[in-house]
Amino acid sequence: MSDNKKNKGPAAGNLVHKANDFRDDKPVRILIVDDEEIVRSFLFDVLSDEGYEVTAVSSGEEAVKLLKKDTFYLIITDIKMPGMNGMQVLRTAKEMEPNQNVIVMTGYASTETAVESMKLGAADYITKPFNLDQIRIVVAKTLERSRLRRRAEEGEIYKQLSRIDGLTELFNYAFFQQLLKTEIERAQRYGHELSLLMIDIDDFKGYNDRNGHPAGDEALKHLSRVMSRAVRGCDFIARYGGDEFVVVLPETDLSEAKLIGERLRLLVEQTEFENELANKQGLITVSVGLATYPHDAQTKEDLIKRADEALYKAKALNRNKLCVFSEVDN
Ligand code: GH3
Ligand code: MG
Repeated sequence: MSDNKKNKGPAAGNLVHKANDFRDDKPVRILIVDDEEIVRSFLFDVLSDEGYEVTAVSSGEEAVKLLKKDTFYLIITDIKMPGMNGMQVLRTAKEMEPNQNVIVMTGYASTETAVESMKLGAADYITKPFNLDQIRIVVAKTLERSRLRRRAEEGEIYKQLSRIDGLTELFNYAFFQQLLKTEIERAQRYGHELSLLMIDIDDFKGYNDRNGHPAGDEALKHLSRVMSRAVRGCDFIARYGGDEFVVVLPETDLSEAKLIGERLRLLVEQTEFENELANKQGLITVSVGLATYPHDAQTKEDLIKRADEALYKAKALNRNKLCVFSEVDN
């Protein structure tokens, strides 16, 4: 008999067995909660042999104390225990970590309790007396489900990240292109109008030169926050690149888009930026170009080009202005 097995009595306190989980490069830690020593020992042996890192405690109170300072991939708790019972362990564990995997153990006669625990978020249940295969299967299935869920969540996060500009946290160029295409198709299908604003910071090179590139980065972030708070919920704002931004205004005709663009221009003019110098040259302002589908262009590429041409005109007219493509002499 190994030392480990000799030390299994309740007097020896908590049982800890360490092993690497070959399925995920990390040890999978399991917490067993049962007041009966014989059950703890049995589960400890079975799960340790499966390669898990197992800790066993004899009460709900001990389990909660452990959970406050440690994390476990899975908790297997008995339902009927003196003091804090398994339902309370389950509830507390879920409050601490909503994604916590918990399996409950019940007697054959208490399937109602098992159902109740599933409603509270238990992943599965094991019935006593134990069946070795059942334990192995239920634990493996629970862990696999949890891994799949985690991977799906991570995939969603990465998908989200691939759409976001790292500095400003606005949508990035690639996502803007995708989005504008979709919106134009929608506008075409329903016979709606759609407007595009192209916004570029005036003399931003000068701001960087005067205040340093890191201050320039901060100004870009601040400007992005200010503008994204100012657009409507249905509008999309993205960083087109460098100091240039685009705002897609679905179902918005020229006159309404003009108001929105002018409001944004004025808002930036009135916003205080750190390091903004007192003289006129130091103020951060933007120039805005506006083009509308289908009046000014029928394709995504042409709409961007027209908004850019209008922006170019605003720059030529001494900046801090909004220019509309259809009102510009071309
Ligand atoms: P204007 O648009 O009014 O013609 O003048 P500008 O000085 O803003 O010129 P332009 O738009 O052509 O140049 C953009 C400048 O923005 C160049 C670069 O110094 C700065 N810039 C671009 N991207 C970043 C960035 O990520 N961080 C910082 N700090 N500066 C950037
Ligand atoms: Mg600029």
